[in-house]
Amino acid sequence: MRDGERPASGAALRTQLIAACRELTRRGLTHGTSGNVSARCDARRFLISPSGMDYETLQADDVPLMDLEGRWFGARRPSSEWRFHRDIFRSRPEVDAIVHTHSPHATALACTGRGIPAFHYMVAIAGGVDVRCAAYHTFGTQELSQAALAALQGRKACLLANHGVIATGRDLQSALALAGEVENLARQYSVALSLGGVTLLDEAEMARVLEKFRNYGQQDAVDPDLLFGGAEPDAARGS
Ligand code: 13P
Ligand code: ZN
Repeated sequence: MRDGERPASGAALRTQLIAACRELTRRGLTHGTSGNVSARCDARRFLISPSGMDYETLQADDVPLMDLEGRWFGARRPSSEWRFHRDIFRSRPEVDAIVHTHSPHATALACTGRGIPAFHYMVAIAGGVDVRCAAYHTFGTQELSQAALAALQGRKACLLANHGVIATGRDLQSALALAGEVENLARQYSVALSLGGVTLLDEAEMARVLEKFRNYGQQDAVDPDLLFGGAEPDAARGS
C-alpha cells in the first residue's frame, strides 16, 4: 500500500476482484477458469480468487481471504496458485495486486521457453530490459513460486514456462493492464520471430527508454493538492 493511501474496504475490494476476474475473460486474457487474481487488503492479508470457479457466477462470499502465513478463511478453497501470490505480496511491498493469466500468445511463447527480449521499446513497461520466463514447475507448487519470484526480480511481470503470465501492479487495474501489455508484446514478438531477422535494442537505448518511462504520460501531471486545495493548476507545469 502506498503511503497515505487507504485500502478499499473488504466489501469493495471483493467486488473489484470479481470484476477483474471477469475482465480476464472479456479481454481474451484467459480461458475458462484458468488464471487467478489477488489484491492486498492490509499489511497482513489479501483476497484471492477461489480455485476452479466460473468467474461469471462468483459472489462476494466466494472470495477467500488469506494471510501472509498461508492460512485462508472463507467458504471456498483459494486459488491453487496461492503460494506465488502470497510470496509476491511478502517480498514486494510495492505490489498490491496480482493477475495470473494463460493469455494465448504469451503462453505460446512461454511454451518455447522464451521470454520477451528488447525487440520493442515497450518491454520497458514491465520495469526492465526484458520480460523473463521462469523455469517450468508444476502448477501450485512452492518450486513454481520460487522460480516466479526469481524471474520477477526487478520486474513487474514475467512469463511461466509451459504455463502463462504473472503481472503485478499497485492496484487491480494496473495489474490487468500490464497483463494485456505482456500479451500484446508476446503477439508482436511471435510475429516478428516468424518473419525472421528480429533486431534487439541495445542496453544503452533501453536505459534511455526506462528513464523516459519514469515520467511518461500523465504521471505527475496533476498535483492532487491543486485539485482539492482550490488553487488553479498552473498550465505551464511540466516539461
Ligand atoms: P485456480 O483455478 O486454482 O486459480 O487455477 C488456475 C490456474 O491458472 C493454475 O495455474
Ligand atoms: Zn495457471
